[in-house]
Amino acid sequence: MTNWQELDSKYYMQTIVRHPVTLVKGEGVRVWDDEGKEYLDFVGGLAVNCLGHCHPVVADAVAEQARTLMQTSLWYYTVPMLRLAELLVKNSCLDRVFIGNSGLEANEGAVKLARRYGSLNLNGAYEVITTSNSFHGRSLAMTAASGQAKMHEAFEPLPVGFINVANNDIEAIKAATSDKTCAVMLEPIQAEGGVNISDDDYLKKVRDWCDQKRILLILDEVQTGIGRLGTLFGYQLYGIEPDIMTLAKGLGGGMPIGALLAKEKAAVFTLGDHNATFGGNPVTSAAAYATLKYVLDNDIVGNAGKVGQYLMAGLKALQGKYPFIADVRGRGLLLAAEFNADIAQEVLMSCLDNGLLVNRLKPNAIRLIPPLIIDNNDVDEALGILDKALATMAT
Ligand code: PLP
Repeated sequence: MTNWQELDSKYYMQTIVRHPVTLVKGEGVRVWDDEGKEYLDFVGGLAVNCLGHCHPVVADAVAEQARTLMQTSLWYYTVPMLRLAELLVKNSCLDRVFIGNSGLEANEGAVKLARRYGSLNLNGAYEVITTSNSFHGRSLAMTAASGQAKMHEAFEPLPVGFINVANNDIEAIKAATSDKTCAVMLEPIQAEGGVNISDDDYLKKVRDWCDQKRILLILDEVQTGIGRLGTLFGYQLYGIEPDIMTLAKGLGGGMPIGALLAKEKAAVFTLGDHNATFGGNPVTSAAAYATLKYVLDNDIVGNAGKVGQYLMAGLKALQGKYPFIADVRGRGLLLAAEFNADIAQEVLMSCLDNGLLVNRLKPNAIRLIPPLIIDNNDVDEALGILDKALATMAT
């Protein structure tokens, strides 16, 4: 049998310490490794597989479109991207869409759009205010936008025009705003940076400030969008509307796609300003249309909210049992458990041994980001395995 891990160490760029399993198959909320072992998947392709693995609706859409028309370029009208754009606009507060391939690409587009807005309406203002511990992707500009020093150090000099300020602090945003500012860019809940919940009124205050200063509010909903928080979009949880929003992850139901959305007043790209070879790709757009339609027609968002509460209650019960769980937090099915010691890797490995995939968020925290179709039985099973893992930590 081929040793896939040996091939990885020989041929693949070593940018991440992979977990010692080779996954070969997925169905619903489960995956299997090359030795036939089954796992309950509470990582879901990193908050991507909102309908689980290989959902027939998504797989059929991909297969059918792949046999019909795969790639054309944006020089032609194609049906899937236009159906997707219409569905996104009709179900959000935004008016126009540009379809790209990933989260970082959508965010790059958002910043370009904000700079274009600044050049047209704000005397050339170009700076974007972002927050500490945010994560917006790994291109050079999104590395600069992300408020994490450890991401910056090896890659300096980084593109200019990003001001990182304290998170969840409206005064910090106010203090950083100048006549060079064109936008504030935030995640409704910081995901990669620690599942950091914004104060209830924080986004409203930021919205008001942006209105007062006539600058744009960009919400990076790459992880929070498409039902993850128990609302279709994170902005609905906080009762505000962004001027620009980005999506990726859950949007394609497992296929690589990203979307940049904007209100009419902010959709200021003119001819020649933006393009992408694979932009609006028919296959990924068809997958995203099928995913979003299924999410909407089957109240997958409501399920994420309800099962998320059940999972949160279970985590709280575990916290009661194991005092070394310092905190459990999150919304919907974006949840984290933080420990008072750096045991996340051990917990992860124990869960893996017992057939559960969880994500190591930080050395002292794990994250649970399962498919949005999970039910209470899946949660009970996961909590049972987690309980077993935690019991070994306690001894
Ligand atoms: N923005 C947020 C909030 C994310 O969570 C991520 C990925 O984790 C990204 C952007 C980057 O997306 P991608 O990995 O598709 O480039």
